[in-house]
Amino acid sequence: MAEPGLMEKIVSLSKRRGFIFPGSEIYGGLAGTFDYGPMGVLLKENIQRLWLTLFRDTRDDMYSVDAAILMNPKVWESSGHIAGFSDPLVECGNPKCKRRFRADDGTVELIAADDGEVKWVCPHCGWENVHAKVRQFNMMFKTHAGAMEDESAVVYLRPETAGGIFVNYKNVMDSLHPRLPFGIAQIGKAFRNEIAPREFIFRLRELTQMEVEYFVKPTEWETAFEAWRLTMHAYADALGLPKDAVHELEVPAEDRAHYSMRTVDFEFDYPFGRKELWGLAYRTDFDLSAHQNGSGVSLEYLDEETKQKFIPHVIEPSLGVDRTLLAVLASAYREDELGGETRTYLALSPRIAPVKAMVSPLLKNKPELVAKAREVYAALKKEVPQIAWDDNGNIGKRYRRQDEIGTPFCLTIDFDTLGEKPERKDTVTLRDRDSGNQERLSIAEAIARVKEAAG
Ligand code: ATP
Repeated sequence: MAEPGLMEKIVSLSKRRGFIFPGSEIYGGLAGTFDYGPMGVLLKENIQRLWLTLFRDTRDDMYSVDAAILMNPKVWESSGHIAGFSDPLVECGNPKCKRRFRADDGTVELIAADDGEVKWVCPHCGWENVHAKVRQFNMMFKTHAGAMEDESAVVYLRPETAGGIFVNYKNVMDSLHPRLPFGIAQIGKAFRNEIAPREFIFRLRELTQMEVEYFVKPTEWETAFEAWRLTMHAYADALGLPKDAVHELEVPAEDRAHYSMRTVDFEFDYPFGRKELWGLAYRTDFDLSAHQNGSGVSLEYLDEETKQKFIPHVIEPSLGVDRTLLAVLASAYREDELGGETRTYLALSPRIAPVKAMVSPLLKNKPELVAKAREVYAALKKEVPQIAWDDNGNIGKRYRRQDEIGTPFCLTIDFDTLGEKPERKDTVTLRDRDSGNQERLSIAEAIARVKEAAG
């Protein structure tokens, strides 16, 4: 369901309305980085909040950690990332070009030669590369900890948040003594030196992940896998993603990571095609066994009933915040005609909309209207903090601005509110974003309506 032109519109609206800006923009940007602006931060927080509610707070078996991004490099040695967290890469042999491309994403067409080498044509300069080699490019960012810049000081920016969970498994066990099954949730930044960052915030070099490592007895993995699969669908629904745009892909054994016994990718119909949104994997006891071997510290679990010791198995729902936010924007973007004019709006679910309602006096230059509107604003803000005040320009323009950031309601205070028509005293108009329809309600009713929708 690729929609040409839609991505450009989303990128443009994101910039115009303060959702997402190119990283370091005044210096010409930095590939693979984007900055969230005022509206983007609110939307991102709401997406994360909803995840915390569904994946942690409505359950009794979940804990949190917030681990450091820099970790002892042995963590990544044990997890296999130093040896194997890589993408295949080819480099153009033209001395004037030297551009590098990912070899497995369709950017270049590789023709295998008999000698094990490949032939390909550089899409940038047209150079014919013969006797070329594909090499593995490790995607972890390297830096140095401390004043020495030699090999002994090398540390990595974590390529996934999961590592910070596994190394804290024992700390959580020792401090809170949970019984299996239980899980640890974490939201945080991860860094991947992607060869070709692209599609706006879909493929970034600095991203945010929301991950759960759920520890189970080996015999219980299927039940847990199924339960998390359903939770992921419930989350997609709560975000307002259309059911027919979210697809499950049962990843075949030959495409799975070596430690995974089952992986389901959740794919989404982005404007540029169907691509991975989230992943759900059964990682067996690979991670804890690897960290037990690597650290020499026992990560075994003692089953109080059977007195048996074993390494717990793991189910991992892994979700990228940025890809989620892009799916939300792509699903919510609408263009229609209202009052004879075309308009753009975001049909965001009120639960995740950055601003739940805008309060506005009909006219800016009437102090009595402004004072009453300020009163309504203060009363609503006590109930629903995420609201906006706007008295700039005419009312139609104010509505359009709110439509573009997806504000579900606008409350307007006019002379009737002040009692010009006595039967309408202390009523306001409540405008619905999607239909543009306005209703006359008491101030209390309007506040209750916004509060209920905001959840
Ligand atoms: P892809 O195959 O698209 O590179 P992946 O399979 O490597 O993704 P995982 O390692 O499973 O991704 O990471 C878990 C989740 O983190 C993904 O489902 C996605 O939501 C998110 N994610 C991974 N890489 C990126 C990236 N470069 N930019 C933004 N989000 C990402």
